[in-house]
Amino acid sequence: MPNHDSHCHCHYELRCRECGRRWGNQPRSICEECFSPLEIIYDYDWIRYVLGEGAIDQRQASRERISRRPANMWRYAELLPLPEQFEPRLPVGFTPLFNAPNLATRLAGNGGAASAAANLYIKNDAVCLPTLSFKDRVVAVALAQAREFGYDTVACSSTGNLANAVAAHAARLGLKAWIFIPADLEPAKILGTQIFGATVVRINGSYDQVNRLCSQIADERHWGFVNVNLRPYYSEGSKTVGFEIAEQLGWRLPDNVVVPMAGGSLITKIKKAFDELTKLGLVDEKPVKFFGAQATGCSPISTAVKTGCTEIDPQKPATIARSLAIGNPADGHYAIKAIKQSGGWSEDVSDPEVVDSIRVLAETEGIFTETAGGVTVGCAGKLYRQDRILPEETTVLCITGNGLKTTDVLAGVYELEKPITPKLAEFESYLRHSVQPVPAGDEAVAVSA
Ligand SMILES: *Cc1c(COP(=O)(O)O)cnc(C)c1O
Ligand SMILES: [Zn+2]
Repeated sequence: MPNHDSHCHCHYELRCRECGRRWGNQPRSICEECFSPLEIIYDYDWIRYVLGEGAIDQRQASRERISRRPANMWRYAELLPLPEQFEPRLPVGFTPLFNAPNLATRLAGNGGAASAAANLYIKNDAVCLPTLSFKDRVVAVALAQAREFGYDTVACSSTGNLANAVAAHAARLGLKAWIFIPADLEPAKILGTQIFGATVVRINGSYDQVNRLCSQIADERHWGFVNVNLRPYYSEGSKTVGFEIAEQLGWRLPDNVVVPMAGGSLITKIKKAFDELTKLGLVDEKPVKFFGAQATGCSPISTAVKTGCTEIDPQKPATIARSLAIGNPADGHYAIKAIKQSGGWSEDVSDPEVVDSIRVLAETEGIFTETAGGVTVGCAGKLYRQDRILPEETTVLCITGNGLKTTDVLAGVYELEKPITPKLAEFESYLRHSVQPVPAGDEAVAVSA
């Protein structure tokens, strides 16, 4: 094993979240003293100095310095745990953030429709490159360290999107990839891993069982498991969603964010991103409410929030939202804490509501999201109806994955009509007899034209 402690001159290092012991930089995710998770801490004075360029108006100088850089997540390099000589090989992130007035009108109901329309935003990681989910961000950071730690093979346990991202990034970086997944994952997510030349190991078991196996393999082999021994580095990549939201809102924080939760890492890292920007003076301090979203069939975090628990009671997942189907979430405890301390809440929606919400987002805003996005939109609707999110508040929904990967859940929703011959008369006849599709969220019977 190389001596990993030789990297302690960095402006970041590992620290235990509970006992505070520092661990330098090495492939390790758990404190040996107290068995708590490790996280990356930074030297913020150094970051403030580097970004501010010694300017008198440090805030303006830092904002301009970042905004001048290429439109990808590496523009926040100082706030990520990257090796000193790191040269990015892939332009990941900086996905669009835009207003969603049509969706807002649907979610907020008549009373608040007009003000919600002006204040609801979507952060669209359904088009994150290269593999169309926010997991490209976490993998980009984890693999930057994989090389530094001397790995030629990287690996992960995955609910689908992580598999795609690890396989694609590994191909680009010339690393070997071993991907461990539950055997019955969506076909598009399996194919979308194999295509990059990765070795895919299918396991008859739940994600939680796959993950446990990977912890054991990680002890045996010198492999960089992005979400096991590289987890503290991996999870820092999620902060870039938060940095981008703030910058794209004009360097200000929203009132609310709605975030889908699997392991519960993303929601805590968006909070960390907002806290860091505030600490560095890049945005004004402001309370932000964090709202979690899960599928009812796998809702350990939202159940804990609703019942007032601070710890996770593990569940056996049964939902079509496979990318969120983690019954024993690694960061569950910290997700609950972030939600509660912010004054937010967590909701969950049934599988039929997930499908309906996928359709609502597509029909209102032209975005085709996967099941996780259906969960987010469905939960956001509930939160508006419960008045936990108010129409006049700036609210960002995190859409984290692409609908082309989970088309299976839409099987049978749309009928294919009989084709017609290319004749005008036949088209006229078609118009007289065709049945118009039922819009999403509309229980009404189809109407004939
Ligand atoms: C992994 C994943 C999430 C949740 O991420 P965590 O950080 O594990 O909570 C959300 N959406 C999609 C599409 C994902 O693949
Ligand atoms: Zn400790």
